[in-house]
Amino acid sequence: MERTLAIIKPDAVERNLQGEIIRIIQQTGLRIVGMKMLRLSRSQAEGFYAVHRERPFFASLTEYMSSGPCVVMCLEGADAIRRYRELLGATNRDHAAEGTIRRIFALDVERNSCHGSDGPDTAAVEIAYFFSTLELVG
Ligand code: UDP
Repeated sequence: MERTLAIIKPDAVERNLQGEIIRIIQQTGLRIVGMKMLRLSRSQAEGFYAVHRERPFFASLTEYMSSGPCVVMCLEGADAIRRYRELLGATNRDHAAEGTIRRIFALDVERNSCHGSDGPDTAAVEIAYFFSTLELVG
């Protein structure tokens, strides 16, 4: 069993797509073991994306991520990190495979609807960024 962090980003929440995206995730068999809705402050978004602070898109990305509410979930399942990343598709929707969440819902490379941890170490840090152990109920 493996856990990963998923975020339904502000562009998708703004368009009321939470239910549709959660249905697609659940259809893969991944289970939700933690879920909350919140609006990140600018500094919380900067903390979450700290690895990207030198990138040219950092200011725009953190402004966007703090522009409205997100739905944050901890997903659990066999090979959850890889399976959920595959379901998301490439960062840029134009390169994402047909049927992936980003191909279906993303507006552009920044407003790409969902986040998923990219490896076990990142997943552990990202899950702990949002959830205490008591909030995970798998
Ligand atoms: N992003 C962006 N411009 C880029 C690359 C990334 O705005 O050229 C945003 C996009 O929202 C992406 C996030 O920054 O999801 C984090 O980038 P990363 O390379 O970690 O992609 P991910 O792991 O989310 O696919």
